[in-house]
Amino acid sequence: MTIIGGGLAGCEAAWQLARGGIGADLYEMRPVRGTEAHQTDRLGELVCSNSFRNATLETAVGLLKEEMRRLGSIVMQVADATRVPAGACLAVDRLHFADGLTRAVEALASVRIVREELTELPLGLTILATGPLTSPALSQALQTALGRTHLYFYDAIAPIVTVDSVDMGVAWKASRYGKGGEDYINCPLDREQYYRFVAAVGGAEKVATRDFERCIYFEGCMPIEEMARRGPDTLAFGPMRPVGLVNPRDGKRPYACVQLRQDDAEGRLFNLVGFQTKMTYAEQRRVFRMIPGLEQAEFVRLGSLHRNTFINSPAVLLPSLQVIGRKRLLLAGQLVGVEGYVESAATGLLAGLNAERLLQGVAPLSPPRTTALGSLVAYVTQRGKKGFQPMNANYGLLPPLARPLRGRDKKLALAERALADLARWQTSVQFTGEPTPSQTVA
Ligand SMILES: Cc1cc2nc3c(=O)[nH]c(=O)nc-3n(C[C@H](O)[C@H](O)[C@H](O)COP(=O)(O)OP(=O)(O)OC[C@H]3O[C@@H](n4cnc5c(N)ncnc54)[C@H](O)[C@@H]3O)c2cc1C
Repeated sequence: MTIIGGGLAGCEAAWQLARGGIGADLYEMRPVRGTEAHQTDRLGELVCSNSFRNATLETAVGLLKEEMRRLGSIVMQVADATRVPAGACLAVDRLHFADGLTRAVEALASVRIVREELTELPLGLTILATGPLTSPALSQALQTALGRTHLYFYDAIAPIVTVDSVDMGVAWKASRYGKGGEDYINCPLDREQYYRFVAAVGGAEKVATRDFERCIYFEGCMPIEEMARRGPDTLAFGPMRPVGLVNPRDGKRPYACVQLRQDDAEGRLFNLVGFQTKMTYAEQRRVFRMIPGLEQAEFVRLGSLHRNTFINSPAVLLPSLQVIGRKRLLLAGQLVGVEGYVESAATGLLAGLNAERLLQGVAPLSPPRTTALGSLVAYVTQRGKKGFQPMNANYGLLPPLARPLRGRDKKLALAERALADLARWQTSVQFTGEPTPSQTVA
């Protein structure tokens, strides 16, 4: 069996296969061929931050890490062993982390690491985990396999808020010109609020654009700050245009309006339409909470814009991470439209478990929807989703609790339910036991 990509997802998949006693060839193109962001030949190199984000069960990414530990994740084992002080976050010494992961995978007797760029998709059972910077030749091969329209090369991510956190005493539901019923949540701004907002966008701190990202500002995914820079009224003629909208509270058309569109099948999450941005996360929270109705908004994803190769998972992927119509090809990592180190490694773990099941002749599976991993995989593979963009783990993806709780209590109850359901699922599907051979990591 073949794994392509020795990043977080590929290493995790190799480890899971080795636990099941299954051998694999793991292809990693570095150092023979580099990427725009990686700087070493280490497996699992962290290309930017050294943080695996929040470590507590008060966040879904904290829960996801705990689920991974319980599923025997090597990425979590090495991350925990190379931890550096970072408050409530799990941050690592990046060099020790990549060294530890490389050594752990190199020590697996059943895994052969091949330092070579693959430019075609193998015909046999394969896990493709080549990440956001998949080499152009392999991207081409993937495009041919999936269809040209199902491979994307950049993110233009707009922020997402939980519907419960929108003040519906200010916002209202309607579509432009009354077409489409109450599909959108509309947040109205008067003239003064609009120009104050535009000034805040212009003055906010932004994330630096890397050279290799400059080419991605197509008109259709321009960041709002770039629009604001072109003139103070540009946003009012763009994503904040109020045409076709009448505020039922005063019977008038607002000066400008931010529209929120439903983002998940259950209607718990809404995205800010057209609000892709490179403002820093802290500035996004500050500036977007100036929008009437969003003063208390809970952001489950913040906006961004960067080079990222990922597939249109809702159209081409099953929750088992198998490609529809080509079930011996599994995809994992950032390529499937999850966002972040932890999420990428988690899908590698699932792909590894499912490849093992396929080789054993048993049906592949996906964890319960009530878990952080199950809900994330369900989100990215949810059929019929239009304008798909990558997603982080977040509690908004999990089905609601039977009990009406709020805040910290709600999150801890969701985590408790997730871990209980994960344990039941593990027992029911009888996963294989210990890593082979047993490793001392980091
Ligand atoms: C510039 C940048 C900054 C980022 N910053 C962060 C951050 O701060 N925090 C965060 O959580 N996430 C960040 N991400 C996202 C991050 O890349 C992913 O979260 C994570 O590394 C993806 O894991 P992966 O295993 O899918 O891919 P990767 O970790 O990128 O691993 C893929 C591997 O496949 C190899 N490869 C590619 N093509 C081929 C081929 N044809 N043949 C053989 N090998 C190949 C690559 O060399 C690479 O080693 C960032 C991404 C980018 C591009």
